[in-house]
Amino acid sequence: MDNNCLFCRIVAGEIPATVVHETDTTLAFRDIDPKAAVHVLVIPKAHHADVVALAQDDPAGSAALLAACAAVAEGEGLRADGFRVLFNTGGYAGQEVFHVHAHVLGGEPLGPMLAIR
Ligand code: AMP
Ligand code: ZN
Repeated sequence: MDNNCLFCRIVAGEIPATVVHETDTTLAFRDIDPKAAVHVLVIPKAHHADVVALAQDDPAGSAALLAACAAVAEGEGLRADGFRVLFNTGGYAGQEVFHVHAHVLGGEPLGPMLAIR
């Protein structure tokens, strides 16, 4: 655990979150500032700074994270109408929290993939 990491502190129970799904290795909770009707963050419990670090350091954890995203989409009822999964990574993507997290977004039409095009 990284004591300076917001999402490690959520995993540790030091900061409250609205948890919607949990496994031995993953946690999913509602984004505090939702950008869509459904906006859930899905994280590995272990600290990895971004999706590249996770993929390189823990392939099994990467698969578990993807499976957790799928379970969240099912649990939130997003499968039929569709949804989006994204990883902001680094400066151009505006990553703010450097503990890898998948954004699972849905519950309404999501518009174009990017604001700049
Ligand atoms: P990113 O820009 O991809 O790093 O996304 C970070 C996300 O974390 C943003 O969508 C924030 O709204 C969200 N966030 C920040 N603090 C919290 C918190 N305490 N609980 C839930 N979500 C949070
Ligand atoms: Zn962390």
